[in-house]
Amino acid sequence: MIRLQGLYDGISQALQDRQTPPLEVKELEEANRQRQAELADLEAQVVAHQDELQEVHKGEEEWRLELEHFQKQKSMVTNEREFTAVISEIDYATKELDTRKTRHDELDTMIRELGEDIESRQQARPEEESAQREITESWETTKEDLKLKVQKLALDAGAEEEKLSPKSRALFHRLLKSKKGIAIAAVADGSCSACHFKLRPHLMQRVWRCEEIITCEFCHRVLFREDAVSGLSEGEG
Ligand SMILES: [Zn+2]
Repeated sequence: MIRLQGLYDGISQALQDRQTPPLEVKELEEANRQRQAELADLEAQVVAHQDELQEVHKGEEEWRLELEHFQKQKSMVTNEREFTAVISEIDYATKELDTRKTRHDELDTMIRELGEDIESRQQARPEEESAQREITESWETTKEDLKLKVQKLALDAGAEEEKLSPKSRALFHRLLKSKKGIAIAAVADGSCSACHFKLRPHLMQRVWRCEEIITCEFCHRVLFREDAVSGLSEGEG
């Protein structure tokens, strides 16, 4: 059971490691997210400017026609009063048209600059990209290694479980599930190392004899002698 617990510890650690990318991977992901968000924002600005440009363009056409209309009228005026009125209309239309031309130029410039900005952002610098690829690939390799490790540990655990009686195996799994992945506890200074409940002397003796399964009276984990661990790592079987 001690070996089995060790294998399950290894499995849960490997699974946890797999869920925990190194800082540089997280930073890279964050930087990419930010970069994408900035690009999306720039692209949205371009779209908004293009929409406005369309409106401005329409207005420009309308005021150009107005201007042409009043210029024609100017040639047909018959008195001073009509002439003044037409001139004032022409002035007004000219101003309106100029305002739209100016905005048209501004929008053209902004759209062009945004386009250049987007393009230069999209062309990631080659060194930076290969460095990023290295980080990503190395993390993918680590994850794959961890997956293989989990598979191997699970196989080992399966083999180890074969050595237990069905009853012990069931007990172990029940505890593993209910005790947050820790089914067994060493006895240290006469107490259960998991919950620190003091063992009664006769239970202590039975744990020491290692002839049967003794569980903690308080947390119900299977108890073992601390020195049993070093004995295990030296020998086989
Ligand atoms: Zn306990």
